[in-house]
Amino acid sequence: MTTYLDHAATTPMRVEAVAALTAALFETGNASSLHAAGRAARRALEESREQLAAALGARPSEVVWTAGGTEADNLAIKGLFWARRAHDLARRRILVSAVEHHAVLDPAFWLAEHAGAQVVLLDVDADGRLDVEALEAELDAHGPETALVSVMWANNEIGTVQPLDEVVSAARRHGVPVHADAVQALGQVPLDFAASGLDALTVSGHKVGGPHGVGALLARRELELTPVLHGGGQERGVRSGTLDVPVARSFAVAAELAVAEQPELAVRVGGLRDELVAAVVGAVPDAVLRGPWPATAPEGGARRLPANALFTFPGCEGDSLLYLLDAAGIACSTGSACQAGVPQPSHVLLATGVPERDARGALRFSLGRTSTRADVEALAAALPEAVERARKAGMATR
Ligand code: PLP
Repeated sequence: MTTYLDHAATTPMRVEAVAALTAALFETGNASSLHAAGRAARRALEESREQLAAALGARPSEVVWTAGGTEADNLAIKGLFWARRAHDLARRRILVSAVEHHAVLDPAFWLAEHAGAQVVLLDVDADGRLDVEALEAELDAHGPETALVSVMWANNEIGTVQPLDEVVSAARRHGVPVHADAVQALGQVPLDFAASGLDALTVSGHKVGGPHGVGALLARRELELTPVLHGGGQERGVRSGTLDVPVARSFAVAAELAVAEQPELAVRVGGLRDELVAAVVGAVPDAVLRGPWPATAPEGGARRLPANALFTFPGCEGDSLLYLLDAAGIACSTGSACQAGVPQPSHVLLATGVPERDARGALRFSLGRTSTRADVEALAAALPEAVERARKAGMATR
């Protein structure tokens, strides 16, 4: 049996979400059709919108359904940039933290290459936390030329929770809209769109026990977004395409449960994560936990996602270690992407000042609602031999 320690990549679907999905798959009807079947599909879609909005502290009219987190991030970055530039050509600067997911970084750099944008990567500290003073300095110097700010709610590799309150208040002083990618935060930390003061926020279905290929961009009603997808004008004309009612239903059900269970998950899985950290360091004493630690701030509040633990293992290649653990029945991740099949050192770890050689030895263990102590024990049992073999392989290729 596989020990699954890669919930940040994707987590098992919830029974309730599967039930909602399969029931809806039997219904025929395009939510834009005017006949009774179409109206029934529209009703189901709007109920899902209300359910998702209520779970996220948003208004139903603020939900724009998308085909996942990547699309929602692209819509936020490109849509905001184009809309702001349409009013004022000078607004070409896109401010993003250096540790954003590629779904934010790549559209920003695409705009720099193709549409005259200037991307400003905002520094983070050794824990991956945004340097808010650097953001303030950028805004003070170039506020009128700034199109948008995008800073993730929490990081997918090292779990760092960002100081979004401070980001929002800095940007608001300059009238600059703020987007946050909350794909990893939903269901892990308390999340409320209205209370956050954000202008736009990304969520994704398959990270909370919903289906793959569905997500949403929450966008304030007054926020202007230029469409990325053109066509039938669905979703307030911002995101065309026939709406996938079954996956929207299923995602809304999963999101509601994830939010309701979040306080319990944070305690239980957070405790399990602490055991995992102790077990890994016990099994491999020179393993280095990356990201904020302790996970909770002295005044309370999460500095790090409860389910995340990323280590670097000196002398190892992360991908060799990943395959050795996979052979031993443990599923985990290096946390960063391959490019053309070649493992790249994580831009997140490099941004936190980890040297490239160490960054190559990264492995992320991420827990979820189905994780148990047995998963931690299986990892602790398999890790010493895998690390030893990965080190030997590393030495042989040097
Ligand atoms: N943003 C973050 C922080 C993520 O972790 C992911 C997925 O790994 C995405 C965006 C992309 O979401 P999706 O897989 O729904 O396209």
